[in-house]
Amino acid sequence: MGATLKIYNTLSRTTEDFKPIHAGHIGMYVCGPTVYNNAHLGNCRTYISFDTIFRYFLHLGYKVRYVRNITDAGHLEGDSDEGDDKFAKKAKLEQVEPMEIVQRFTVDFHKVLEQLNTLPPSIEPTATGHILEQIEMAQKIIDSGFAYEKNGSVYFDVEKFAQKNKYTELSNRNLDELLNNTRELEGQSEKKGRLDFALWIKAKPEHIMRWNSPWGQGFPGWHIECSAMSSKYLGNEFDIHGGGMDLIPTHHTNEIAQNIACHQKQPARYWIHTNMLTVNSQKMSKSLGNSFLPNELFSGNHKLLDKGYSPMTVRFFMLQAHYRSTLDFSNEALQAAEKGYQRLMNAVKLIANLKTSNLSTVNCEVLISSVYEAMNNDFNTPIALANLFDGVRIINSVNDGKESITEKDKQTLQKLFNDFLFDIFGLKEEKNSTSENIDGLMNLILEIRNEAKAKKDFSTSDLIRNKLKEIGFEIKDGKDGTEFSIVN
Ligand SMILES: [Zn+2]
Repeated sequence: MGATLKIYNTLSRTTEDFKPIHAGHIGMYVCGPTVYNNAHLGNCRTYISFDTIFRYFLHLGYKVRYVRNITDAGHLEGDSDEGDDKFAKKAKLEQVEPMEIVQRFTVDFHKVLEQLNTLPPSIEPTATGHILEQIEMAQKIIDSGFAYEKNGSVYFDVEKFAQKNKYTELSNRNLDELLNNTRELEGQSEKKGRLDFALWIKAKPEHIMRWNSPWGQGFPGWHIECSAMSSKYLGNEFDIHGGGMDLIPTHHTNEIAQNIACHQKQPARYWIHTNMLTVNSQKMSKSLGNSFLPNELFSGNHKLLDKGYSPMTVRFFMLQAHYRSTLDFSNEALQAAEKGYQRLMNAVKLIANLKTSNLSTVNCEVLISSVYEAMNNDFNTPIALANLFDGVRIINSVNDGKESITEKDKQTLQKLFNDFLFDIFGLKEEKNSTSENIDGLMNLILEIRNEAKAKKDFSTSDLIRNKLKEIGFEIKDGKDGTEFSIVN
């Protein structure tokens, strides 16, 4: 497809034509999870969005190096170096080693992302595996005059940096306001300025995760790991840097400052950010009690959920919103997504058996270009899906004999659906043998019941319905036949 891909760049706040630095190649860095807790749905949404972007680049024929890190050290509770180390706190609570926490939640993260059918990144570096690179980078920033050492810790001098550089270019915040609104440094603070942040933190005696450095034993700050690892694997200047939009004001702003101070270069050409999740229009948060984990969503085991939704329903649901819009969870929306996903999968099955003729009364070319046009417009998955549903209508019309299709058009349609649903959107058939068996059995039972009804043997048909209800199956007779649902 020759059309230009357009990407919304947070840095310029405009939608730009995408041009990779090296033709045919793309370097993409996405901030990974801090593995001190279960993967949450906000993470899932971010990584499904970037997985879809990664898959689309691969589909377009690019050679992509996708780097997504694991933060397994150095992340304190407050983004600006206050509070406990997240791993140390959890480890202390559970009386285990911090690295046991890291291991457990790295495994959980990978498992959830695998359920959601995301591809692994090309490289998944860890902060603890790149301590030397982080020390080296901090030293270079000291040498360039933008960082200073104080009592075994190293801090980035934001005000000095901001004199010659646009520190708030990404966040578009007013620096003077920020300086005035940030609370006063406490008397004992080692920082020179209110916005300064740590590149290296001196370890307290009880701190377990510690490494030697030119400034004594300590551990790296959170922001420096991404600067060190992205430049190590993608170079000082690469194509795309991404993450959740909550990272814009502090983590990504500080990453850019570090890279410029160290390499005199803004690291990424395009900055892509995904939006937040809401539940029944409220922000999803633990303190509001409306946050559920991926596994609770899959099983339905949460007070806000009417039932469980399969990982592919969840993935489909997330793709129905553009990555820059908020995504609202509600039972109604999830149930609609479940039906929509099934309709798409049913249509895919139908294509293979469509009868072909010498003439097409349907226009597949228009359909194809509309799907690509949507994806090329800043990865607009909801529009691309809406266009694919136009394709579903075409498939159903041909199947019903209302329209006709040539063999060539049928193959084109089949390729479009396979490429987009499976390769790019990362959906797959969910083969659940138990539920397939149940479907088969229930259809048999309903057939027997219908025969009984046809013979006016209502005592048998009622008996079947009542007995099924007792064991959790509700059946409904409607215009289009009898349907069943599983009730708890
Ligand atoms: Zn990061």
